[in-house]
Amino acid sequence: MEVVVYRYGHRIARDKRITTHVALVARAFGADGIVIDTKDEKIEEGIKKVNERFGGDFFIESGVAWRKYFEKWDGKIVHLTMYGERINDVIEEIKKNDKLLVIVGSEKVPGDFYRIADYNVAIGNQPHSEVAALAIFMHFLNNGAWLNKKFDGIMEIIPCRRGKKIKYNYIKMLRQAGCSEAVIKHCIRVARLAVEIAKAIEKNRGKVDIAAVEAGAMLHDIGRAKTHGIMHIIEGGEKARNNELPKKIVDIIEHHGGAGIDEEEAKKLGLPPKDYSPRTIEEKIVAHADNLTGNGYRSVKELAIAWEKKIGKEAALKLLKLHDELSKLAGIDIDEIARKLKN
Ligand code: SAM
Repeated sequence: MEVVVYRYGHRIARDKRITTHVALVARAFGADGIVIDTKDEKIEEGIKKVNERFGGDFFIESGVAWRKYFEKWDGKIVHLTMYGERINDVIEEIKKNDKLLVIVGSEKVPGDFYRIADYNVAIGNQPHSEVAALAIFMHFLNNGAWLNKKFDGIMEIIPCRRGKKIKYNYIKMLRQAGCSEAVIKHCIRVARLAVEIAKAIEKNRGKVDIAAVEAGAMLHDIGRAKTHGIMHIIEGGEKARNNELPKKIVDIIEHHGGAGIDEEEAKKLGLPPKDYSPRTIEEKIVAHADNLTGNGYRSVKELAIAWEKKIGKEAALKLLKLHDELSKLAGIDIDEIARKLKN
């Protein structure tokens, strides 16, 4: 069944929050979209952002006058009002339709609504709220099926007793950001090596957040959707922040450049001045896995020679130092791990 919610009486100054909540409830409880009478770009943007992160193809349109819209509507119209018929008495009949427009008001609605509506429906005959009325109506309408609706977004919340558990779809995130397939392939390769390094360190009794390593490695080049220059580390950090990824992941992205970019080098490169060297074990693993990964995996020696020629001795020494540090922590030469993945 196609369900569109019409929000009447939206006042930009007063109703920003409640109309947003009407839209969020419409989306979460299974409606296909919302139409709002008053033009409000901020609310449109906010809901589109929710779609970007949590998925689905819920639409939002604002600045649509009610009379014409209702006249053109070729399905049934349900008006939610405390003066209407009891939901229990009419819901089975309403369910038989295949296209519904569900109207909710804010303050008093025009008297015409009661005449135009095919059903005036009350969610109890006490005054309460458009948000509650819409939620309960939708729940009755789809028999609670909204609870199992899959939105297929870049992030999915995993129910858990305490804390927050979120599953990210990294490839979708990279694609949505506009990364090329070559960049995505590279990120997958870096993540494979980074996770193997992390596992080796953990096996050798080191403490490392493998999930953060995987996330950081998969997303380290997300900024390449905007630029392939060194600014991609800043662009990537910003994109990750906008997607409300944990700080740990943002930091991995911003600190993955080479074997470490200190404040002096950052200034020379035109980056906002700060130290971008990898500090945590997770940052170091991702930065180094990235170093050893091009289109395939390369040995640190091979790379150090190339870096010395191209960037200078200092950079090559930094690279070798990072390699040694991680190899010691892993109890195995990182080249060995990369070699195994190569074969
Ligand atoms: N005087 C208004 C009325 O006619 O219902 C109440 C305004 S109420 C704050 C805003 C909106 O919430 C109403 O336009 C209606 O859509 C919805 N609403 C509030 N209580 C409701 C109820 N008991 N049943 C159905 N809808 C309700």
